[in-house]
Amino acid sequence: METKFDALVIGAGTGGMCAAARLAHKGYKTLLVETHDRVGGRASTREVDGFLLNTGALVIEIGGAVEQTLNDVGVKLNLFVPKPATELLIGNKHLNADGGFVGWIRNQAPNILNFITKILPPFKPKKGESTAEWLRKFTKSKFIHGAVSNVIGAMFAASSEDLPADVFLHYFTKGSAFKKIGLAPGGTVEVWKSLLPVIEKNGEVWLSSSVKKLTFNEHGLVNGAEIERNGKIVTISTNVVVSNAGPWATVQMAGEEHFPKGHYQKIERENRPAAIITIHFASQKPLAKFEGLALAAKTHRMVYAGNFSQPEQKRCPPGWYLYCAASVPKPAIGEFDLEEEKRLLIQDIKDYFPGFEEHGKILAIDVTAHEWPAQRAVTGFDQPMQTPVKNLWDVGDGAKPWGEAGTVACAKGAKIIVDEISERFPVKTAIPMPVPGKH
Ligand SMILES: Cc1cc2nc3c(=O)[nH]c(=O)nc-3n(C[C@H](O)[C@H](O)[C@H](O)COP(=O)(O)OP(=O)(O)OC[C@H]3O[C@@H](n4cnc5c(N)ncnc54)[C@H](O)[C@@H]3O)c2cc1C
Repeated sequence: METKFDALVIGAGTGGMCAAARLAHKGYKTLLVETHDRVGGRASTREVDGFLLNTGALVIEIGGAVEQTLNDVGVKLNLFVPKPATELLIGNKHLNADGGFVGWIRNQAPNILNFITKILPPFKPKKGESTAEWLRKFTKSKFIHGAVSNVIGAMFAASSEDLPADVFLHYFTKGSAFKKIGLAPGGTVEVWKSLLPVIEKNGEVWLSSSVKKLTFNEHGLVNGAEIERNGKIVTISTNVVVSNAGPWATVQMAGEEHFPKGHYQKIERENRPAAIITIHFASQKPLAKFEGLALAAKTHRMVYAGNFSQPEQKRCPPGWYLYCAASVPKPAIGEFDLEEEKRLLIQDIKDYFPGFEEHGKILAIDVTAHEWPAQRAVTGFDQPMQTPVKNLWDVGDGAKPWGEAGTVACAKGAKIIVDEISERFPVKTAIPMPVPGKH
């Protein structure tokens, strides 16, 4: 068994997959280790009663950092694009958010916001001001506050009271804001599975294996890891490590003594993950008129819903319709009353999916919170990607580039990290790699 690697990537979530694919593609002999028996982490897919249910992420941005990563390593992104892809639900009304008036507002909002904050400095968010506080300067309308809070819930898994206003403005004026989206046929896991051949061309992928401990040399650099594989501890050596386990898990694997005084406590104190509750349900009768992703303006808790029923999505047995509805609990960070939160989300499903009570069958209720959260850090409260150890980085949604969210943020972070690694720890054996699908 091979035990010497140029790079070790801990965890096969979005950030880990993108980092490992980029490293292997650049010629680093890469080992990717994943605790689960599948890749994708919180953007993966599992089977329940013949239906393919996502573990988290459902939509992928078209033309965003995930697609860029795949393109850079020679893989084509395969997405199904519903028409329209995003709709806004206002009571019984469905508004096309890709085009028409809502689409126009969506496209023009960044310019309007930019203009307002430029010509009227008092409307520029103050440092530390939440989006809700900032919005109250413009309006007290419950409808607008509710709609903005739901959009923030869908994009950031946080409430408008948690999200800093400068992050909100940056995301909608300069960031992608998921304007063009698609869904992966077979579930989101398929996006990451398409990167496996790239990694395996110049490395190994160990599933159902866990990194237990990082080892250090006398200069304070990581030089290897102890990994549990097939019930045994295997020791490997490596020049660089990228951890996708989250900053808190990374410091635990490394040990307090390898960081400056107070670092361990700081990461523990600032570890404030956000939550989402998702209910997947199916029916033999159609329950919704929207085609892909729906954002709801006025709800008890539901921030978005998804439709996975079209045969092109390859997600459900013939004759069935598959949906999800998701909520951000209150509070989004910390402890919440789970039974009450489930009750409120089910109430929204009954309101927005007529026929659910008669024909609907709940397949799964997933609570992504605490150590398996919706986002490891609310955008704006991330840890730095570079740890105080020179050859150890954190990738993923606990240490993402400022102002970004979701899979886009994880993929962008992976690119920044791999660029830093190739500058500071150039691969000794830079072999130009033949890449599948690239001619
Ligand atoms: C309900 C929900 C809906 C979402 N919707 C969207 C969406 O539509 N679009 C979008 O872009 N984003 C969405 N997101 C956010 C997105 O899913 C996450 O931001 C992203 O998947 C996080 O990826 P990550 O790189 O942080 O890795 P993670 O998903 O956290 O994966 C880390 C991996 O590391 C493994 N690991 C941990 N410790 C070890 C160890 N010691 N050894 C080996 N392996 C280890 C874990 O098993 C895991 O597989 C959603 C999230 C949720 C929860």
